[in-house]
Amino acid sequence: MTGCNWHTVAGYGVLLVECKDCGRRGALRKEDVGTRMHQGNMREINREKFKCRKCGGTEVRAYLPKSQDQVEMFLAGRSDRHDATGDLSRRPEPAGPTPSTRRQ
Ligand SMILES: [Zn+2]
Repeated sequence: MTGCNWHTVAGYGVLLVECKDCGRRGALRKEDVGTRMHQGNMREINREKFKCRKCGGTEVRAYLPKSQDQVEMFLAGRSDRHDATGDLSRRPEPAGPTPSTRRQ
């Protein structure tokens, strides 16, 4: 699973972001990011530039929510980081070819 491009985000319909400078949190939906969020856009989230509306910072952590509840919890500041699907600011794990069980 590549896990961190717009294609994936489009599947969720929302991207949660948290400013690393001031901690402001937001949920970006298609109307916020425009045409970038669409199936087939393989541009990595890590390469995107986000700008905090509060402090102007551009360093953000990005998360994918598991559920709508988690979106609301995140925005309310109650979501534990461990609940999120993943911290997209980290490098994704190498998605090498997995030698899955071969069938003869
Ligand atoms: Zn900020």
